[in-house]
Amino acid sequence: MSTTTFTYQFESQTFTGNVSFPTGVFIDGKFSAGSKGTTIDVINPSTGKVVTSIAEGTPDDVNRAVKAAKRAFDESWGLKVPGSQRGKLLNKLADLFEQHSDELAALEALDNGKTFNWAKAADVAASIGVLRYYAGWADKIHGQVIETHEDNLAYTRHEPFGVVGQIIPWNFPVMMVSWKLGPALATGNTVILKPSEFTPLSALRVCSLINEAGFPPGVVNVVVGYGNTVGQAISEHLGIDKVAFTGSTLVGRKIMEAAAKSNLKNVTLELGGKSPNIVLNDADLDLAINWSVHGIFWNHGQTCCAGSRIYVQSGIYDEFLRRFTEKAKSLKLGDPFAKDSYQGPQVSQIQFDRIMGLVDAGKKEGATVHLGGERHGNEGYWIQPTIFTDTKPDMRIVQEEIFGPVAVVIKFEDEEDALRQANDTLYGLAAAVFTTNLTKGIQFAHKLQAGTAWVNCVNSLQPNVPFGGYKQSGVGRELGEYALQNYSNIKSVHVNLGQVIQF
Ligand code: NAD
Repeated sequence: MSTTTFTYQFESQTFTGNVSFPTGVFIDGKFSAGSKGTTIDVINPSTGKVVTSIAEGTPDDVNRAVKAAKRAFDESWGLKVPGSQRGKLLNKLADLFEQHSDELAALEALDNGKTFNWAKAADVAASIGVLRYYAGWADKIHGQVIETHEDNLAYTRHEPFGVVGQIIPWNFPVMMVSWKLGPALATGNTVILKPSEFTPLSALRVCSLINEAGFPPGVVNVVVGYGNTVGQAISEHLGIDKVAFTGSTLVGRKIMEAAAKSNLKNVTLELGGKSPNIVLNDADLDLAINWSVHGIFWNHGQTCCAGSRIYVQSGIYDEFLRRFTEKAKSLKLGDPFAKDSYQGPQVSQIQFDRIMGLVDAGKKEGATVHLGGERHGNEGYWIQPTIFTDTKPDMRIVQEEIFGPVAVVIKFEDEEDALRQANDTLYGLAAAVFTTNLTKGIQFAHKLQAGTAWVNCVNSLQPNVPFGGYKQSGVGRELGEYALQNYSNIKSVHVNLGQVIQF
């Protein structure tokens, strides 16, 4: 198979237009077929039907990509290029994302199933913000001069690793591209990126934008393929100096193992979650209900920090549950391209089956299905917004990440008990508390074992504020200045200014 062009005519309430761009394995600035000549079907989750087929990358393609990335690093990137130039190119890429916002959002709606409106307002807009944020950092990365003694000049340099591998999931396809490329390129690394095999379209579209922005060939390489082939090859490649991964805790463990067994490459992991959301008696109920609904049902529950365990204090439990349920019922499930849709389909048959399996486990273990709990429609991968009550702490639906539109609502009396239950999980990605007593809110935020704690909101992420997990939710931080550390090696230089050693 030679390079193919993906062409699609969108006709919808939110986006109409002909989108056409080259696809393939993107190495050294060029598209080609994968080494095996095989393809991966891309499915529209709204219907379950094939949209297109794209080239399947292989470990041989990863080898080719590593060569191109190494050459680019040595010849035309890294510290050879002033930071201001790297920043200029990242800003140019952000401008191109902006010019193509509608198209990128439409591609997200097509192969992920998220709504066009949310994809544009949240995913694409946030991607632009993140690229601009790291463009601003590119010429402000520097070490320190450290005072030691008169005869010694000691300083640090923040040097790029070299070739970095980046493996991303399907739930925020284009946003994950920006979170990964921004800090890696600002610090001068070259990249081999593996998008999810379920949602490759927006990342493939970005490849042409990378060329258009003027990045030297080989600085960014994109190899779409399966996890156990391309993902594994990236994790264990001796020519890759660092791997950054976003995805499940299960796969994160495999990546760390592959890195350990190969070249002990630097590893950062952004993993799963089972985030608690605590609503205290004195909470502003309107605010708490709206955010809590958004916390679990936004992006169809396919959000790593989804507030899936909702702990509500007994004084407001009944009213909260009634109004939370009404609001969940009012969410419009429908065509991701319709103006008023809030929820689309789950991303794939696999995810649909996984979620419905956990819903069945909840039923079997004796929890009450308060709302939903069934598939929606006859085709595609749609699931009704689902609320469970009468759960027990050791039930699978309370302990395991469901990654779907499924909430458990749990009554508690005592604040200390709520905190204990909230922290009783192997995850530690995010947590939220709703209260009008700010002092109490902040005390909760400090005691919750999570990388991000929200007071009176959920899902708030900003380009300049770090994000990452405690416990088995991750290693390292993305976003903010902290992410730059994940992509830099610190070198200490000592210069002797005249000290003579005596034997
Ligand atoms: P996943 O772990 O199945 O896959 C993620 C990526 O890893 C994909 O590109 C996949 O092809 C690849 N992969 C699979 N097996 C691999 C292997 N053996 N070696 C190397 N790569 C491999 O996750 P998913 O289903 O795509 O995404 C959902 C998960 O991602 C959830 O657990 C969610 O919480 C997590 N997530 C976390 C964050 C965060 O920032 N913490 C953000 C988004 C998603």
